[in-house]
Amino acid sequence: MDFLRPASWQEALAAKAEHPAAVPIAGGTDVMVEINFDHRRPEHLLDLNRIADLYEWEVGEESVRLGASVPYTQIMENLRAELPGLALASRTVASPQIRNRGGVGGNLGTASPAGDAHPALLAAGAEVEVESVRGSRRIPIDAFFTGVKRNALAADELIKWVHIAKADGPQQFSKVGTRNAMVIAVCAFGLALHPATRTVRTGIGSAAPTPVRAKAAEEFLNAALEEGGFWDNGRIVPPSVAAQFAQLCSGACNPIDDVRGTAGYRRHAVGVVARRTLAWTWESYRGARRVTEGAA
Ligand SMILES: Cc1cc2nc3c(=O)[nH]c(=O)nc-3n(C[C@H](O)[C@H](O)[C@H](O)COP(=O)(O)OP(=O)(O)OC[C@H]3O[C@@H](n4cnc5c(N)ncnc54)[C@H](O)[C@@H]3O)c2cc1C
Repeated sequence: MDFLRPASWQEALAAKAEHPAAVPIAGGTDVMVEINFDHRRPEHLLDLNRIADLYEWEVGEESVRLGASVPYTQIMENLRAELPGLALASRTVASPQIRNRGGVGGNLGTASPAGDAHPALLAAGAEVEVESVRGSRRIPIDAFFTGVKRNALAADELIKWVHIAKADGPQQFSKVGTRNAMVIAVCAFGLALHPATRTVRTGIGSAAPTPVRAKAAEEFLNAALEEGGFWDNGRIVPPSVAAQFAQLCSGACNPIDDVRGTAGYRRHAVGVVARRTLAWTWESYRGARRVTEGAA
């Protein structure tokens, strides 16, 4: 196995163009497991660890530009205010050691339906910027996951940045597992309220072949919140609306039975965490409104 060690992004792109089957390695927390278990024996490993750009982030007016290799620990420590959903999801990944190495670029590269960053990225509305020697393009997160552990990257492309809209309202992430730490999700759910556009967005993990949004649930809730004037009056979301939202979220799942849980359990659990995260985020929204009104 040859180990390619580009010192710059341009060298990395050139190496990937020359060896399209080369496997990029960032934190290595997925790649090394596959190699150790002999699930993969690539001819070339493309080490991205010397490329400083991939470890940087920039907070802009409306969005955050997150380098592909920024570790989860940095997201938790530095981007909690801008990306609360992703920061919460990052806290649930594995252990401190893995969170110090692994990042969102690797999570997207693996594209597991159980990747914890994915529901948060779907709910926030992210774009993945990929590049090759042919140029760069931005892939909306909704179009990124193309199958079980498959993504929209071409063979010569690398992930450079993930662009994520800064939170304009409360966000939540909830993960169901068999224990609290070091656990792959049985299912996971991300919810983001977007008061600026009076919309909600969702993300479901580990309950379909790919991470998915519950679009029918979003449309239902958007209409119900609008009709009841809830964004303006800040009243509690009626239990019947929350229940219908939860049911539609369950309906968006297309799970399998596996060692971690049955399909039926996953559908049920997604409904439960959908309702819970709606209650949490809506309560935060109401709280923020009260503070704003009190100050006025
Ligand atoms: C003990 C353990 C526990 C874990 N627990 C969790 C968990 O709770 N939740 C969770 O979501 N994950 C978990 N994981 C999986 C893993 O930590 C995450 O998927 C992590 O985000 C991977 O990031 P990385 O930088 O280590 O990726 P790597 O292992 O370096 O790479 C992963 C994949 O992405 C590709 N890749 C990496 N960077 C790029 C790039 N810039 N462009 C294109 N492709 C790229 C690689 O080629 C590879 O296919 C766990 C892993 C271990 C070993």
